[in-house]
Amino acid sequence: MTVTEAATGSTTTKGRPWASEALFRADPQLADLLAAEAERRAETIQLLAGENLTTPAVLAALTGPLIDKYAEGYPGRRHHTGCALADAAELLAVDRARGLFAAPHANVQPRSVTSAMLAAYAALLKPGDGVLAMSLEHGGHLSCGSRANFSGRWFTFTGYGVREGDGLIDLDQVRELARQHRPKAIVAGSISYPRHPDWAAFREIADEVDAYLIAAVAQTTGLVAAGVAPSPVPYADVTVAATHKLLRGPRGGLLLCTAELAERIDRAVFPFTQGGAAMNEVAGKAVALMEASTPAYRAYAEQTVSGARALSEGLAEAGMRPLTGGTDTHLVTADLSPLGVTGAEAERRCAAAGLLLGKCALPFDPAPPAEASGIRLGTGTVTSQGMGGAELSEIAGLVARVAAGGAVAPAAARVRELAGAFADRT
Ligand SMILES: *Cc1c(COP(=O)(O)O)cnc(C)c1O
Repeated sequence: MTVTEAATGSTTTKGRPWASEALFRADPQLADLLAAEAERRAETIQLLAGENLTTPAVLAALTGPLIDKYAEGYPGRRHHTGCALADAAELLAVDRARGLFAAPHANVQPRSVTSAMLAAYAALLKPGDGVLAMSLEHGGHLSCGSRANFSGRWFTFTGYGVREGDGLIDLDQVRELARQHRPKAIVAGSISYPRHPDWAAFREIADEVDAYLIAAVAQTTGLVAAGVAPSPVPYADVTVAATHKLLRGPRGGLLLCTAELAERIDRAVFPFTQGGAAMNEVAGKAVALMEASTPAYRAYAEQTVSGARALSEGLAEAGMRPLTGGTDTHLVTADLSPLGVTGAEAERRCAAAGLLLGKCALPFDPAPPAEASGIRLGTGTVTSQGMGGAELSEIAGLVARVAAGGAVAPAAARVRELAGAFADRT
């Protein structure tokens, strides 16, 4: 696509604030990159689990005048002047978050999920304290004890995992490790586990050893919001959520907590780990939280799960092994070893056909992490585009065929056709 085509509004730029003439005039080089990215997006089927399409209303709020406002602190307690309307926007976001998740307290300022995790740890722990979390090998995020991340350097992590047989979280192991290590906090949540943690059981274990319970539900925040997943909020001391991913809002974190922890959580975000919040993101979060409270969003959330089940069944029919035998979320993590192909190779082959998914190291994976035996897929984006079970069954077939080494060209042609048919629907 050329600059002119993009500036005049093709199907891929329609309703997109970035496709304004100001950018194309001021910086055609960067504008062309964005236009090409829009085209890449329109020609591929996006199955990366953490991505989605930000809604048009959220995009509009993100580019609104609050983008320039400095508002360090919290509503009514700012370090800058002129914050009355920024305060009102933040209060709207906070009230909507509290209402949507039935949470006593919400903090909408974290710039990312990782910084929200940092703030959660900072509020509850001292350096050196013990934390029990899902091990990275079994699906824990970097912020759950990676040595390359602050978490693994500043706290002492112990990892629990899933059972080899059914792939489900081994609660007996969690209890045993909790008794043995007496952690100050237990984290439940993962980037690749396709089922919901048993929140009541985690609460019981945390209570037994007098630990805080942190629910890390960035992957499934939208499902919790829609009531399609069990809410951790009544059980967890702190819930760490994402406003992007399934919620389709701005990239960012959201912290929910008990009334007792409200003050500590707020201080852990600002001034302990962040400066001034991005008020345009706060405004965008307010919009996303409102949109997530609608029946239309609930239908979307339900469809991400039914689409993921169709995807999972299709992959299983083609010989892959979906972890835990299926999914209760938008996520499918599948073992490719029956096909004799690594996750890395499947990711490369599928990308060549326009099918974007991620290689994924599996629990008990015999392959090195860079190769990995699995792939991870999510239905957030394709469901936002309006694809349903029929399309996802077909996509499963395409993924399996290409991953196993089948011809790329015919699959790529079908991918472009499907992607084109749904490119305009966000
Ligand atoms: C996506 C995700 C993260 C990281 O989110 P960022 O906003 O990129 O920091 C952390 N934890 C979990 C469980 C996630 O799903």
